[in-house]
Amino acid sequence: MNTIIVYTHPDCLLKFNGVNHPEKRERLISILNSIKNLKHPNIKILKSDYAAIEDIYLVHPKNYINDLFKKIPNNNIVSLEEEPYADTFLCPDSKNAILASCGAGITAAKSIMRNDEKLFFCAIRPPGHHAEISRANGFCFVNNIAVTARFLQKNYKIKRISIIDFDIHHGNGTQQIFYNDKNIIYSSIHQTDIFPGSGKIDETGNGNIFNVPIKPNTTSFEFIDIFKNNILPDIENFKPEIILISAGFDGHRLDPLASTNLESIDFYTITKMIKDISNNYCDGRIISFFEGGYNIKALEDSIIKHLLAMVEN
Ligand SMILES: [Zn+2]
Repeated sequence: MNTIIVYTHPDCLLKFNGVNHPEKRERLISILNSIKNLKHPNIKILKSDYAAIEDIYLVHPKNYINDLFKKIPNNNIVSLEEEPYADTFLCPDSKNAILASCGAGITAAKSIMRNDEKLFFCAIRPPGHHAEISRANGFCFVNNIAVTARFLQKNYKIKRISIIDFDIHHGNGTQQIFYNDKNIIYSSIHQTDIFPGSGKIDETGNGNIFNVPIKPNTTSFEFIDIFKNNILPDIENFKPEIILISAGFDGHRLDPLASTNLESIDFYTITKMIKDISNNYCDGRIISFFEGGYNIKALEDSIIKHLLAMVEN
């Protein structure tokens, strides 16, 4: 049995996107409650630190961040996009929420390199994998997983990092950030006909980008088969020193934003497969980042399965 630390910060709850927006604070409240109620002796919730702005600059240019923070309103919410694509909003508390969300990965990186534990889950919002170098989109502003990857490379002797993205949307931001980086491989399985539209199979970067688009209505059985045969072998060949996961749970059959038909238990199965690779190649080291997932009940069940697969060897 392993121990996993769940890093979170109360300011992640401050982000407000308007009343009918799917990316709502109740998502995080409910998953933290379900983790607490589980009372598992090997799943510990701890408070993480804010990200230092200099660490965010490892991925995003200063002028983008300054500009973003300048647009934060004093009241209400403002859209960063034009209609009909307006779904990425800033609210008065956005700066603290963004720094808190990004800080969990950095706190986990420091902790993993101190050898405190080997497994971490960042229970955070706003999510990050759609945030491009200089563009917020898809509810994302700062690419949390990308900042942690660059932070690990800059501050420690970690070079080879595998980023696995099983959120049902393609992580256009993460792909763009690492498109020509031989030391980081980005592997994504995502539904073809939904936002953001990128992630075609021929988007291969420097041979380090592995996109596996799947059809709408893909079943559990098909998804797991594709994940096992089309995502994992390239990661095994790469032999990473650490694995980072963009963990989105919107492939669940109950999710309102996609039409893939995963069950909660499938998140146990795919996490277990990732865990096996981490045990074989990188001393069991994984930092997982909460991305999407918009049906509260499905989210609670799926995240518990994800965490249990991590702790149960
Ligand atoms: Zn998603």
